[in-house]
Amino acid sequence: MATRLLFRDDAYLSRASARVIAVHERGIELDQTIFYPQGGGQLGDSGRMLRESGEPIAISDTRKGDAPDGVLHVGAADAPVPEVGESVTLELDWQRRYALMRLHTALHVMSCVVVAPVTGGNIAPDKARLDFDIDIHLLDAARIERDTNALIARSVPTETVWITDAELDARPELIKTMSVQPPRGAGRVRLLRIPDIDLQPCGGTHVRNIGEIGAIRVLRIRSEGKRNKRVEIALAN
Ligand SMILES: [Zn+2]
Repeated sequence: MATRLLFRDDAYLSRASARVIAVHERGIELDQTIFYPQGGGQLGDSGRMLRESGEPIAISDTRKGDAPDGVLHVGAADAPVPEVGESVTLELDWQRRYALMRLHTALHVMSCVVVAPVTGGNIAPDKARLDFDIDIHLLDAARIERDTNALIARSVPTETVWITDAELDARPELIKTMSVQPPRGAGRVRLLRIPDIDLQPCGGTHVRNIGEIGAIRVLRIRSEGKRNKRVEIALAN
């Protein structure tokens, strides 16, 4: 079943109400959600649902369902199971999500400092990485850190832009990430624009202004295979 993805229009919603539309082994489905399902390299959200009685249902992970825009809220092992039709209040583990948003947006900025095809990526609350198809000797941790932080210091607002599938097909240069398909659906694709820095298809959650990232540090650079040179970063504070 399809779920209204509230985070797509407002990544800063940390609390919302919803109705349970299905409950099964793989998770709880809602009519709408603020929980981001794992995808595009970004981990799924955790948090809790509050029942009308006030009883909490701990949500340990969020995954994509089978339907387009389907979202499965995965209850913790010992969590109570809600009834279909029940109203619940959703609460994100906001600290964790905000770290994911800052690191995710930082990867967009870093992908403009390292100019090479992106072959993979991952965003966890404590660190994030991109893999590049590049000669590892061209990856200088100090330079990547300095140049990425110089761009972050511009503190420009980010924008979400939608284009049609046909427009994206006409501009293949927009797709930097070879391992992740652009988030297509209903004939349109969502892009993240960081004016004068980056423009690429992305369905993830981002900060409103890149200044919110603060600064990053490069944790390490290593080879993960012929076409995967990994740059791992963390938030500086
Ligand atoms: Zn993104």
